[in-house]
Amino acid sequence: MTDITGVTQFMHQPYQSDSNNITRIVILGGGTAGWISAGVIAATQRARGKHNKVHVTLVESPTIPIAGVGEGTWPSMRRTLKLMGIRETDFITRCNATFKQGAKFRHWVTGQQEDEYYHPLVLPTQFGDRSLAEDFVNQTTQEAFDKLVCAQGHICDLGLAPKNVSHREYEGLLNYAYHLDACAFAAFLKEHCTNVLGINYLSADIDRVEGDRDGPISALITRDGQRIHGDFFVDCSGFSARLIGQHYGIEYVSCADTLFCNKAATVQLGYYDDTILPYTLSTATEAGWIWDIGLPNRRGVGHVYANDYITDDMAKKQLERYAGRALADDEVRLFDIAPGNRKTFWKANCVAIGLSAGFLEPLEASSLVLVEMAAKFVAENLPKTAAVSPIIAKRFNETFSYRWQRIIDFLKLHYVLSKRSEPFWQKHRDNTTWPDSLQEQLALWHFHPPAQCDFPYAEEVFPCASYQYVLYGMQPNYTQKDPDADKLSHMQTARCKAHTYQQVQLLKQQLYSQRTLIDNIIQYGLPQR
Ligand SMILES: Cc1cc2nc3c(=O)[nH]c(=O)nc-3n(C[C@H](O)[C@H](O)[C@H](O)COP(=O)(O)OP(=O)(O)OC[C@H]3O[C@@H](n4cnc5c(N)ncnc54)[C@H](O)[C@@H]3O)c2cc1C
Repeated sequence: MTDITGVTQFMHQPYQSDSNNITRIVILGGGTAGWISAGVIAATQRARGKHNKVHVTLVESPTIPIAGVGEGTWPSMRRTLKLMGIRETDFITRCNATFKQGAKFRHWVTGQQEDEYYHPLVLPTQFGDRSLAEDFVNQTTQEAFDKLVCAQGHICDLGLAPKNVSHREYEGLLNYAYHLDACAFAAFLKEHCTNVLGINYLSADIDRVEGDRDGPISALITRDGQRIHGDFFVDCSGFSARLIGQHYGIEYVSCADTLFCNKAATVQLGYYDDTILPYTLSTATEAGWIWDIGLPNRRGVGHVYANDYITDDMAKKQLERYAGRALADDEVRLFDIAPGNRKTFWKANCVAIGLSAGFLEPLEASSLVLVEMAAKFVAENLPKTAAVSPIIAKRFNETFSYRWQRIIDFLKLHYVLSKRSEPFWQKHRDNTTWPDSLQEQLALWHFHPPAQCDFPYAEEVFPCASYQYVLYGMQPNYTQKDPDADKLSHMQTARCKAHTYQQVQLLKQQLYSQRTLIDNIIQYGLPQR
C-alpha cells in the first residue's frame, strides 16, 4: 500500500487556478479500466522524464466491488503491459493467464455440427501487398478462407500455443493476446502501479463532486469529507458512471435496437482433461451465444442472450446443457447488458474510460482494447494547460465516437450473415436494425472484398482483415466473382494454400500445447528482452 500520508498532503493542495498547468490526475475507480489508465498515464510520463511533474492518484471504493469479468483481450495488451514495465512471466503466473490466438465461431451460420470458422489474430498471407481475398472470391476452391490464407486456425485445431518457452517475453511465432482472471489482473495491476509506477492510492467512497455541471471539476469529496483536488479526472467508476453520467449528465446512447443481447449468465467450470484451448470458443445458441475461455485452473463460461426471446430460465438450461451438468443458482452470476455508449466521453477536465464510457456484449472482447486505446490517447495527449484541453477533448470525442460505431458495426456483422432460423436470428437479418454505415459496407462488399480504403482511420479497433475473416467465414460467396479473373486467382490461391500448408508443418515442429507452455513458464519463466 502507498503511503497515505504523502497522498493526502498532495491531495490537500488547493486548486491552482492561476497556473492552469495540468499536473494532478485523479482516477476514480480501481477496476481494470482504472488501473490500466493509471499505469499507462504514469508509464508514459515516466518515459518522457516527467514523472516528477505529473502525479497520478487512484481512488477506489472499499464497498463497491469491481466488475471482475472480462477475461478475453486483444494483442494490444502485450504492448500495454510492456509499456508499464511488467514482465510477461509475472503477468502469466499471477493472473492465471493463457494465450489466445483468436476466436472460433461455432454454429453461427446454420447451427449444424460442421458449422465453424476462425477469426485468427494473424493477418492473411501477403496482406497489404495484394488482396488474397480477391483471389479467394474469384476461384472455386472448397477451402475455408481462414484456413487458406492463414496458418493460425490450423495451429488452433492442433491445440498448440503461439510460442514456446525459449521465445522472449511478448514475442512469439504467431500473433497472440491473452485470456486472464479479471480479479487477479486488477489486483496485480494495483500492486505494480503503486509499488513500481508511484501511483498514489486511496480507498474511499466518493460522495460529492466539486464543480458545476458545465465547467471543470476541482475536487472529489469522500464520504468522510476528504477533498481530493485534481486538474484532470478520469472516470473509471464502472456502470455507475459517477462523473460522466451522474455529475455531468451526459446522455447514454443505446444501440439495443441493433444489438439485442441484454443479459449474461456466467459460471466457472472445471476441465474434462488437460486441454486448454488456445482460442476463445464462441458457440451460437437459440437467442445469443456462449463463450468458453480456458485458464490454467478453470474455464470461464458465459451465456450472452436476449431476454426478449428466451427467459432467464431457458438461458440457464442452455448453459447447463453446455456445461454438461446442473448449475446451482449461487454458481451463476447474472449481468444486465445495456448496449450503448456515452454521447461524448470527454467533458471539461473529465474523461470516461471503461464501463462508464459504454458497454457492448463481449463478442469480440472489445472493451479492454478500447480502455487501452483511450488510456494511450489521454497519456500521449495530456493537455499541457487547461487552455488547450477543449481541442484535445474534441479530437478524443470524434475518435472514440467513430470507434464505438465501428465496433457496433463489426458485432452486428456476425449476426446479419447468419442463416439460422430462430426468431432472434431472423430479426437480426431485418435490415431496418442495421446501422447505415454497415448497410453501406455490405452493399459495397457484394462487389469487392473488404479493403483498407473502407477503413479510413490509421488505428482501427477491428481492421479490414477482421471483416474479411468474418465475412468469408460466414458467407464465402458473399462477393460476386469476376469471371475474367478466374485463372490467375486459381493460381494464386493454389500457391497460397501450399504456403500455408508449409507454414503449418514448420510451426508444428516448434510449438507445443498451451498446457505444456504454461507449465514451462511457471517452472522456468520466459527469457527477458
Ligand atoms: C459479462 C461481461 C463479460 C465481459 N467480457 C469481456 C471480455 O471478454 N473482454 C473485455 O475486454 N471486456 C469484457 N467485459 C468488460 C470488462 O469487464 C470491463 O471493461 C472491465 O472490467 C473494466 O471495468 P471498469 O474498470 O470500467 O469498471 P469496474 O470493474 O466496475 O470498476 C469500477 C470501479 O469504480 C469504483 N467506484 C464506483 N463508484 C465509486 C464511488 N462513488 N467512489 C469510489 N469508487 C467508486 C468501484 O469501487 C470500482 O473500483 C465484460 C463485461 C461483462 C459485464
